[in-house]
Amino acid sequence: PAIFALRSSHFSTAAEPSSKQGSPPSVPNLIGGSFVKSQSSASIDVINPATQEVVSQVPLTTNEEFKAAVSAAKQAFQSWRHTPVTARQRVMFKLQELIRRDIDKLALNITTEQGKTLKDAHGDVFRGLEVVEHACGTATLQMGEYVSNVSNGIDTYSIREPLGVCAGICPFNFPAMIPLWMFPLAVTCGNTFVLKPSEKDPGASVILAELAMEAGLPDGVLNIVHGTNDIVNAICDDEDIKAVSFVGSNTAGMHIYSRASAKGKRVQSNMGAKNHAIVMPDASADATLNALVAAGFGAAGQRCMALSTVVFVGGSKSWENKLVEAAKALKVSAGTEPDADLGPVISKQAKERICKLIQSGVESGARLLLDGRNIAVRGYEHGNFIGPTILSNVTADMECHKEEIFGPVLLCSEADSLEEAISFVNRNKYGNGASIFTTSGVAARKFQTEIEAGQVGINVPIPVPLPFFSFTGNKASFAGDLNFYGKAGVNFFTQIKTVTQQWKNLPGSGVVNLAMPTS
Ligand code: NAD
Repeated sequence: PAIFALRSSHFSTAAEPSSKQGSPPSVPNLIGGSFVKSQSSASIDVINPATQEVVSQVPLTTNEEFKAAVSAAKQAFQSWRHTPVTARQRVMFKLQELIRRDIDKLALNITTEQGKTLKDAHGDVFRGLEVVEHACGTATLQMGEYVSNVSNGIDTYSIREPLGVCAGICPFNFPAMIPLWMFPLAVTCGNTFVLKPSEKDPGASVILAELAMEAGLPDGVLNIVHGTNDIVNAICDDEDIKAVSFVGSNTAGMHIYSRASAKGKRVQSNMGAKNHAIVMPDASADATLNALVAAGFGAAGQRCMALSTVVFVGGSKSWENKLVEAAKALKVSAGTEPDADLGPVISKQAKERICKLIQSGVESGARLLLDGRNIAVRGYEHGNFIGPTILSNVTADMECHKEEIFGPVLLCSEADSLEEAISFVNRNKYGNGASIFTTSGVAARKFQTEIEAGQVGINVPIPVPLPFFSFTGNKASFAGDLNFYGKAGVNFFTQIKTVTQQWKNLPGSGVVNLAMPTS
């Protein structure tokens, strides 16, 4: 299928269906307003994880093309920064309308390249769309501060100004939402942007950029480059890039954080997770069970806020049996199948890694209550499928608990008390999200206070904050000072200039005072 229905006249070949061309379309760079085919001789296949079909080829953007993208962004910044904020917001108003218009096309692209179900892919787009909606009104968050007469006849005020060229490096698991966490807010604050989508599913970024340009984003304000480690390092090192937003694994994130920071850039780095749910004996049974199954296996566990470990307080047996029954009932198939509950994992390598972690759990003493490793999915025999898998008797020091699995695997553990459960969760190095299921306000409040996680759910399994708040992972799940989106996001994409002004008739006393001025 023609995944890139590019309207840009600069890149007509990519609009051709692959069957006509005989080879899959090449994913274009976007440089200075033009979608252009990379001159690179090296590319990576974008593979449909349900079928192994090559959907497209993503180039390793050349260094010259990367420099051209940064230079286009630098040039566009000169006029974009002076474009009134209301005009910048209006582009976002139009963009949110166009995303709604094309949401089915975006979702189909996501399912084709990433594998999640179409319904879930709609959610991926929608949660990003909400950030675009929020960007429509961020002028108030860009307001400065003013104190009159800080000294005799002197006023001081601060202004939030854009940084210049910013860059974003994306993971595979939310091909629309994560780019939309990044560029809409950055450009509405007056910056220009260089986006590096995941090499595994770059299609949604290209479609979103087309829509942004259709919405009136001027040439050069948003640019797209492709590749892996080399282009990421080039972003970290480039003198003209002032800030880097990263979402992905800890290995890449900590490398990017230190390399880009060493070059004086701002970095916000959202990384891996191990999200826990504590289930109290008084929790509402059906609602809790549904929440655990949905948050544990939805998106095949490939969400940074997926619930991957449950700690049952006061005995797990009655819960575990029901959990296994509910998980068994889930339908595993290609995301395009209307009755699919979960699709494949992203790659053969990911499947191998997940299976190894399951095996390591078994070998270190966990009980395998449900094993999805050898699932056969009719019609999609080559897909990277793993069925829902449940391990119980998991302890804090097991490899499968210490590491992020990022697959449809739910670990179960037991604790005698809420204190013990909280301490089990807090021992884990990650601190993205954690939830409690209870009908006790006292337990919920203790959990909220003592849990070491950035995003806390109380009877809510995936507490991803809406865009007027920020995404607030902590511990090993985040590096940086200013989180994604919300007020913190606007602060990340702006710097403060403080002006001290004096407007009075100065008496020419002729005296030069070299002492530090005081009021
Ligand atoms: P990844 O780190 O493999 O890739 C992310 C990006 O970094 C890609 O664009 C990739 O090209 C680049 N990259 C990868 N390795 C690199 C290296 N060594 N040097 C330089 N660049 C490199 O992550 P992924 O597998 O695409 O995504 C899954 C991970 O993302 C999981 O750990 C998940 O928890 C995390 N994630 C976190 C959040 C969050 O908000 N905390 C959200 C989504 C995903």
